[in-house]
Parts: sequence; structure tokens; C-alpha cells
Amino acid sequence: MSRRVSILGATGSIGQNTIDLIARAPQDYEVVALTGARNIAQLAADARRLNARLAVTACDDLLDDLRAALDGSGIEVAAGAAAIIETAQRPADWIMSAIVGAAGLAPGMAALEQGTTLALANKESLVCAGPLLLATAQQHGATILPVDSEHSAIFQALVGEDVASVERIIITASGGAFRDWPLDDLVNATLAQASQHPNWDMGQRITIDSASMFNKAMEVIETHEFFGISPDGIEVLVHPQSMVHALVGFHDGALMAHVGPPDMRHAIGYALNHPNRGMLPVERLDLAAIGRLDFAAPDSRRWPALDLARRTMTRGGLAGAVFNAAKETALDGFINGQLKFTQMADIVAETLDRMDHAGGHIDAKMTLDNVLQTDHLARRAAQAAIDRRAG
Ligand code: NAD
Ligand code: MG
Repeated sequence: MSRRVSILGATGSIGQNTIDLIARAPQDYEVVALTGARNIAQLAADARRLNARLAVTACDDLLDDLRAALDGSGIEVAAGAAAIIETAQRPADWIMSAIVGAAGLAPGMAALEQGTTLALANKESLVCAGPLLLATAQQHGATILPVDSEHSAIFQALVGEDVASVERIIITASGGAFRDWPLDDLVNATLAQASQHPNWDMGQRITIDSASMFNKAMEVIETHEFFGISPDGIEVLVHPQSMVHALVGFHDGALMAHVGPPDMRHAIGYALNHPNRGMLPVERLDLAAIGRLDFAAPDSRRWPALDLARRTMTRGGLAGAVFNAAKETALDGFINGQLKFTQMADIVAETLDRMDHAGGHIDAKMTLDNVLQTDHLARRAAQAAIDRRAG
């Protein structure tokens, strides 16, 4: 029997890898909907190829372009943020959440409310609203399967284990583009330099977040929220080869490592085939040829984002929503040339400070409305901090 699937963020790096897997066995899937944003040509081509019922762009101004691109196909079209949420409400057995940024939160929530299986690549939603996401899944009988490579690795290492016997979790980081740069040069890092990843081929935003370690900082919070591990039990290890994705340490001293090539189709495919293991078209590692795997402790002067993640977890409440919004705004500031690479962490730290003194937003009850409101206020505070520096 074929399974009904939808892909939110189908035109991005994770979305395209998901489509690659689905297109290899089209008879197994009935594609309900694909969503994208500005890349209408890709969205339309994939909707036709996969025979999707619905194609949606996040951009209202591109509805006519999408309609024209799908003319005569019989595929339904829609546009706008509300249409993306409605798409997530369309009955499907498996939904990929691969929109980038906090924009993925409301659609992910809508998907959980229909009791589906949500393959969660959108780490921002766990950082902003982890407890809300988990409670919503539980309330509606939905399942969340992690798709971040580290979290898929942890999830797999925990099969058949009791989380209560976990002592620590180690997630690895490649170190990104600037791992070996002299510290003093970081302040002059350019956008082009920060957009190159040594091992993974990903969207631009997460690639820059890898260079700044904000991606790993988000993943530490993601680990805390999703697996319920205390901040003290989560470690980051720099591992330049990106082959050991995570290690789970149990209280008998055993460390279970997940090893595989840096190819997101593994984590996506695991979530797609769960609870089974399907055949996946990923490289089989030849460890003798690889010869060695290296590990080192991260330097917090090079990557202050890691300490900001600890501070965010310790603060709790809606601090994660502030952290994420400030990080996204600072990243925009770096991309559009308002900020230097090293100033992104300063903006996040300053925004956490200010929001802590701004009317109790961080301590507000965790509802979707409050998270979105805090996200909005934190973006404004972060942008004001950026403008103060520029002015
Ligand atoms: P990407 O930039 O390549 O793609 C993002 C997708 O989101 C695109 O389909 C885009 O059209 C859509 N989108 C952008 N803004 C939107 C908006 N406002 N509303 C609705 N849709 C919007 O990003 P990516 O690298 O595929 O990452 C997607 C998510 O997966 C992120 O949360 C990222 O952190 C996470 N992730 C990615 C990787 C990876 O290898 N790329 C690995 C782990 C986790
Ligand atoms: Mg990851």
C-alpha cells in the first residue's frame, strides 16, 4: 500500500534529498503536497515529476508564476504562509518538516495536530518551542522522528535502550569553514568564505551557522529538548571528518557511536523507513582507506555560540525562542553586510540580556502565540542592536 507523504520545504537541500529518495520508489508513495518559496521552477518540476496533488509557495507574489508553471497539470496551487499551514493540515501519513528557520514552527505544529509522523529537520522549532512540540505530538498521537544527522544518530543508538541509563550525549561538529583559521582573522571572514562547508552540502544559512558553531549550539538545545538530557550531560566534540555523528554514553561506561558518510539521505531515509531499515543509496565507508578519525575539544573563544546555548538552556522558558530569533536576525545582518562574522554572537548575547529585562516575555507560558510573539519582539530587539552598531 502506498503511503501519503508531504514535503514542507521541498525545494531546499533537505527537501531535494527527500525527493531523491521518494523518486527512487514512486510506487511506494502518494505525494500529497510540496511546498517551497522563491524557486518556482524547481517546485513545479518536482510537483509534476512526483505527481503531487498540491504545490504551494510561501510567497504570495509568486502565485501566478506557480499557476502558469503548472498549467494543464491538474495540480492544485496556493500561496502564502496560511496556505503552508493548511498544507500541513492535509491528511498525510508522513510529513517532512524542512522549512528553514522559525517559519517552520507553525506548519510543524499543524502537522502534529493531525496525528501524523513528522520527520523533523527544522531544528529551529525544537529550539523555539521544544516542550510545546512534544506535548502537541503526545496529545494528538503523532510521532516526531529527528532528521538532523546527530539526532538521528542518537535516536538510533537509543533503540532498545532506557533513556534513564544515559549518562551523556556527545554530538560532533566538523568545525565548519574556519576551524583552522587564526582567531584574529575571524573578524574579517567574508560571506563567501563562511558559505563553504568542508564536508556537507547544505543550504546557505545552516552552512554559515556551521562556521559560527551556531548550528551546533542549536543542536545542543535540540538534544536537550528532544531527548530530555540535562545541559551538563551534553558535550560537543570537534571531529573534522564528520563520520561519527553522535555518541551515546551509558552509565556502565559504554559509548555507542553512530558512524556513516556525511550524506543527509541516511537520516532522512531512516525517518522515511522507520521502524524498518530500508536500502539507502549512501556510500559504504571503507574505514581502512579512511585510516584515522580525529577528535578535539571545541575552543569557546573561537565559538562563543556554544556558551550561549548553555546559557539559553539554563534560563529555560522562552529563552530558546529569543536565542533563535536573535540568531536568525544576526545571520541576516551578516548576510546583508551589516555585521561582521564575529558580531553575530554579540547580538545574540545582547538580545538575551535585553529580553530578560523586557516585561517577562521569557517567563510567559509556552503557547504557540506566545512563542511567535516573543520571536517577533526578539527580532526587533536584535535588529535594534545591529542598527546601534551600524549607526
Ligand atoms: P534550504 O535553505 O536549502 O531550504 C529551505 C526550504 O525552506 C526551501 O524549500 C525554501 O523554499 C523554504 N522556505 C524558506 N523560507 C520559507 C518561509 N518563510 N516559509 C516557508 N518556506 C520557506 O535549507 P536546508 O539546508 O534544506 O535546511 C532546512 C532545515 O533543515 C533547516 O531547519 C536546517 O537547519 C535543517 N537541517 C538541514 C540540514 C542540511 O543538510 N541541509 C541538516 C540538518 C538539519
Ligand atoms: Mg546536524
